[in-house]
Order: sequence, then structure tokens, then C-alpha cells
Amino acid sequence: MSLHVDITAPPAPSAAPMTLAPVEQVRKLVTAIPGPASQARHAHRTSVLSAGLGTVLPVFIERGGGGILVDVDGNHLIDLASGIAVTTVGASAPAVVHRVQEQVAKLTHTCFLVTEYDGYVEVCDTLNRLAPGDQPKKSALFSTGSEAVENAVKIARAATGRPAVVTFGHAYHGRTLLTMTMTAKNAPYKDGFGPFAPEVYRAPLAYPYRWDSGPERCAAEALAALEDLVVKQIGARHCAAIVIEPIQGEGGVIVPPPGYLQGVAELARAHEIVLIADEVQTGIARTGAIFASELEGLVPDLMTTAKGLAGGLPLGAVTGRADLMDAVSPGGLGGTFAGNPVACAAALGVFETIESEGLVARARHIEAIIRAALDPVAAVNPIIGEVRGRGAMVALELVVPGTKTPAPDLATAVAAYCHRAGVLVLQAGTYGNVLRLLPPLVMSDELLTEALGVLVEALG
Ligand SMILES: *Cc1c(COP(=O)(O)O)cnc(C)c1O
Repeated sequence: MSLHVDITAPPAPSAAPMTLAPVEQVRKLVTAIPGPASQARHAHRTSVLSAGLGTVLPVFIERGGGGILVDVDGNHLIDLASGIAVTTVGASAPAVVHRVQEQVAKLTHTCFLVTEYDGYVEVCDTLNRLAPGDQPKKSALFSTGSEAVENAVKIARAATGRPAVVTFGHAYHGRTLLTMTMTAKNAPYKDGFGPFAPEVYRAPLAYPYRWDSGPERCAAEALAALEDLVVKQIGARHCAAIVIEPIQGEGGVIVPPPGYLQGVAELARAHEIVLIADEVQTGIARTGAIFASELEGLVPDLMTTAKGLAGGLPLGAVTGRADLMDAVSPGGLGGTFAGNPVACAAALGVFETIESEGLVARARHIEAIIRAALDPVAAVNPIIGEVRGRGAMVALELVVPGTKTPAPDLATAVAAYCHRAGVLVLQAGTYGNVLRLLPPLVMSDELLTEALGVLVEALG
């Protein structure tokens, strides 16, 4: 058998690192979206890829820079998705590219379980320093968010000797067996994939907009329900961990009511249950703080990060209390690719960019721009039930006018309008009726304003 490797235009070998002219930061449409070249590729893709792989927008992207994605037809799209909150520092951020190029030329892999390298330790040092609280902290690296969440649960179980894990309504924690079990929504994440992992329990989420007795009673009543589940139904001494997203992402950018996260932390502390903040989506400057936990004064025992951590390269982490992180025997954590040196180099480029570009403050500025554009529209347009979020993680929940009935078809129609106009937005939420904005933090005010103009037009 011969191996036909068909790669169009292989790059010429060169000693110098590759540099490209910056991507022009403008929206530019030269064909319909998707264009003919994307359509041809998508047709081919369908014949060679599993049907289980979904795609929000069937457009093939060739290049990215800052807040722009350039497709194979030459269209420049404004990116309000950041690859699902991953390219927070922008697509192919210069510091990430530079460090990755240097690292990939020096060393691609040795496996941290075999021999050590500096990048891994530097990333962990930085995460320990940045994570909330001044207790002694340690970290371990993995390759994905799901893997980080799985390992946080493993650590909590090892440290407590208890089996049960508490999660919440509308939660999203990943696609592996344990994390899809922890995820709330059936289709598409769990549909047909059971039996699920044992000892996973679900408390109602404090979701102010949809709380039956109103947003004012949401925090107290949701906390009472959580306490009932933990103390009466599971039994606190069987409970290893409570895992919560400080702001739910896939669930629809659900911001808990003030005081709620503190209440969850108090309950966990009272029963020596490990509180795990899943900051995979909210972490690394996305919400106007390095971690969304900080916004509520939350000091979790363990914290998971991934998405925005390495500027698009696969890297996940668990960071938290040193005594918990040390409860696992040597060899109990890790993985072949976990904490890969190229991904670690990328993460160092991300930290450098957040600092040098002032991106934490920038996220808050982006929130102000989005609010200024959308709040007045929400006040007069009855399909917008709520605008919510923090920093550069903002969403619109769409409803049937005059009710709170979710309107997923409207959300699909608005997203499709934006996509045709060259603005990439995402849908989210258990009911599919939430439009989610996750722009890269380096996006200029002008580009963001233009994208929001398209969204407002679509809502109209
Ligand atoms: C995306 C996500 C995960 C899973 O991360 P993967 O890298 O896709 O495995 C876990 N938790 C949250 C909150 C997420 O948003």
C-alpha cells in the first residue's frame, strides 16, 4: 500500500521563522457566505468526516489575526466567537506565534512524565500566583478542559475519600464519560452515549431570569435546594466535590445572583467538600478579571482552566490548594501530551499579551461597548428577554414577545443573518435561544461596533 499524502503547496523549508503581513482588521465580503471554495470543501468534508462532528458555520478558514478570520474565498469575517472563548488574545497573537515558533524548533515533546522542561513549571508558577486566595497553591497541566475537570474530580476524590460529585442544571463540563455525565443537556452531548458515570448529582442552578418565584428569591432558594441535595439526599460525608461554572458558558452565559457563589462556598466549607470552580470558559481575562471567581470574591479549593489558556493550543490546568493537589500519589496525574512544551510556550505568550496589552481592563471596556449598543435595543425590542454577562462574555436571551418562552428559531435566524453579513456569533443555552458574544479582547472598538451594528440590524 502506498501512502498518498496530498498536501497542496507544502511550505518551503526555511531556517528563518515564518512571518506574515498582519491581517487587515476590516470586514470584507467578496462572495456570499459560505463562498464557492468553502462550499466545495464542505461537500468533500461531509464525505470523509463523521456525521457526529457539527459545525456552526460551514466556512473554511485559512488565516486569522486579531479579530478577523479570513476564509478560503478571501472573505474577512469579524470573529465574535474566538473559537469558543479560546483566542482571547486574538487569533495568532504575535507573542504566542513567536514563542511557539521558537519552542517548536527547539523541542516538540518529551512527556513531562518522562523528563522535565521549564515551560511547564513556568505556566504552573504563573497560575498559582494568579489564582484567587493567598493559600499555598499548586497546579498540574493537561490537554483539554474536559481532562482538567476529570482530574479535578479525581483529586477531590483522592483527597476526601468520598465518591459523590454535585453539579448544576444547565452545566457544561465536557464530552468525556465523566464530564458529559456532569453536563446537563442531553442532545447533542449525551444522546445515546449512556450508561453514564455513577455518583454524579445535579442541583438546580440559580438562574435569575428563569427562577419561578423571581430573581430576588433565586439565591436563597437555590442555596436551600443545594443544601437539601447535599445534606439530605447524598449525605455530606459522601460528597467529594461541588463543581460550578462561576458564569455558565454553554448553558447560556448565566450569571448567578449576588451572594450565591459565596453561599455555595460556605456550604462546601461547612462540610469539608471540595469546591471546584470550572473556569475553563470564564478564565484567563475573559470576564474582566483573570478569573470570574474574583468578581464574586470566590476562593475555590480547585480551579480548572483550558480554553483561553494557550491562545489556541491545547492546554488545560487544575490549580488549587496545595494540600489537595498533593493528595494524589506520584504518577496518578498526567498524560502523554499533558502540558506539551509548545502549548506551554503558547500559554506564556498569552500571559505576556494579557499584561502588555492590558487585556483585563480591555474586557471591561468591551462589556461597556456591548452594553451601550444592546441595552437600548433590549429596552424596546420584545424578543430580547435579557442581556447579561461580564466582560467580553455577553449574551442575549431571545424569547417569544410578551413571554419568557424560549425562541430558538429566532436565535437561529439572527445568527444566520449575522453569518451572511460576515459576523461570526454563537448560539448557546439549554433551549438554544441564547446568542453569545465572545470577541477576542484585542478587537478594536471600531470593529466591535461594526459587528454589533450588524447584530442590531439582524435583531430588527
Ligand atoms: C469547553 C468547556 C469544557 C470542556 O473543555 P474541552 O477543552 O472542550 O474539553 C469544560 N468546562 C467548561 C465550562 C467549558 O466551557
